[in-house]
Amino acid sequence: MNRVYLDYNATTPVDAEVLDAMLPYFSADFANASSIHTAGQRARAAVETAREQVAALIGAKPQEIVFTSGGTESDNHAVFGVISSQVAQPILAVDRLSRQQPPLHVITSTIEHEAVLNACQAAEKQGVGVTYLPVDRDGQVDPQAIRRAIRPETVLITVMHANNELGTVQPLEEIGRIASEHKIYFHTDAVQSGGKIPINVKTLNADLLSLSGHKLYAPKGVGALYIRSGTRLRQLLYGGHHQRGFRPGTENVAGIVGLGKAAEIARNSLASGAQRVSALRDQLERGLLEGIPQIRVNGSQAPRTPNTTNIRFAGIEGEALVIALDLKGLACSVGAACSSGAVEPSHVLTAIGLSQEEAKSSLRFSLGRHTTQSEIAFALEAIPAAVAQLRALSPTYQKAASRV
Ligand SMILES: *Cc1c(COP(=O)(O)O)cnc(C)c1O
Repeated sequence: MNRVYLDYNATTPVDAEVLDAMLPYFSADFANASSIHTAGQRARAAVETAREQVAALIGAKPQEIVFTSGGTESDNHAVFGVISSQVAQPILAVDRLSRQQPPLHVITSTIEHEAVLNACQAAEKQGVGVTYLPVDRDGQVDPQAIRRAIRPETVLITVMHANNELGTVQPLEEIGRIASEHKIYFHTDAVQSGGKIPINVKTLNADLLSLSGHKLYAPKGVGALYIRSGTRLRQLLYGGHHQRGFRPGTENVAGIVGLGKAAEIARNSLASGAQRVSALRDQLERGLLEGIPQIRVNGSQAPRTPNTTNIRFAGIEGEALVIALDLKGLACSVGAACSSGAVEPSHVLTAIGLSQEEAKSSLRFSLGRHTTQSEIAFALEAIPAAVAQLRALSPTYQKAASRV
């Protein structure tokens, strides 16, 4: 059976060219990039080329890029790095800030990825004030609400660029401008926008920006954090002097080379890739809306990444539909991969105002570089059939249908 993969927001396959670029660094060029011998210097040069490639994707300087183990680490580094640069001890070493510590405050949104949300919640337990700003029905934060939430002790605003479940893109330029007017550090989790839509850290006014390799056709376990020159940021990890002390640990040379290559490919094909994939996404969306009664696209009124659609199927248990589609050979998901299997409905979908039942009846389809026209044609057969089968068995559908 040919399997159709529409879950690129969960992870992407490693691009063949990326893999080719990486392979030598596992064997022939295996040396430690910190070694001073010739082999080490070759590995070093490869890491520095990758730094240039990642910097070029987001309009940064190479020395502003720090390689990490992925999006989660980059997000945690941004949140805790800013907070703990304001306190006497590294914040991970303390249970609670001392009473002498002047108050600290962070502003974020309710639809962030768990990597930011749970980092903020952990900081809150240590005594940091956190404001979680609500979003509108399409998943956008109101920049004026951010302005109103600012306090004298606000040290960080962290708002994601594109949401992983909805694809909704935030008005970051305006948020960045507000942050810079108030001289507050601005971090954005750009894991879902990196390689999909243009990013320029200068127009976004970002001080910190997170990327993850495996969301843009590089391997899992490698990522990057952009740290604008001059940003006061404490390291998370203690060790050697790698990456100017920002991130000790022997560099994951092969992974870093892969991320660099992936960034270069993404940059060269940004416009054409986006156009191709958004045409397929729109075709999928239109076809489903025409072919299935009682469905809605979540977050459709806001600007979105070109590859994502999140659809609510009245009367359907989302997980049952994922399984039914999997049996037909189509992979998709309910919300984020990391929260699948959780009993709670998606925090993103409830944040845009859906009821628990509506949130649980929503599925995310995310397309990518290898999605084809014939796969979309297949999806347009498989999804309506599966929905019809499930609805025929579903007493809740009759209830929902009579309500609408
Ligand atoms: C996947 C994802 C992350 C986490 O990145 P990892 O590299 O998997 O740790 C963070 N933020 C967003 C928006 C994501 O989609």
